[in-house]
Amino acid sequence: MVASRSARERKAGVEAGPLATVKIDVGADQQFVYKVSCTVCTAKGDRAWSTYRPGEDNGYMAAMDRWIFHLKEKHPDADAPCLVYLPEAQQRLHERRVARESGA
Ligand SMILES: [Zn+2]
Repeated sequence: MVASRSARERKAGVEAGPLATVKIDVGADQQFVYKVSCTVCTAKGDRAWSTYRPGEDNGYMAAMDRWIFHLKEKHPDADAPCLVYLPEAQQRLHERRVARESGA
């Protein structure tokens, strides 16, 4: 379990790119909780940016989607492997909005 967590942490860290710090905690219900922090925004001293999402694969995707949007918005020149997932992240965001608007 612990080895698998640090392996996931490394993999997520590589995908998130050099600006991100990825930490995985294990929540009370034994789910992985992904925390992605921005090293640039944290270093600036004002409100540190991070996304914190529980849940295994959904948690990973939700945290990574928010991170991708943060990169595009705040660091458009930054490069990271996860940016190849931008179209998918936008699609998921769109689907969540549609689901919300259709009366949830
Ligand atoms: Zn940032």
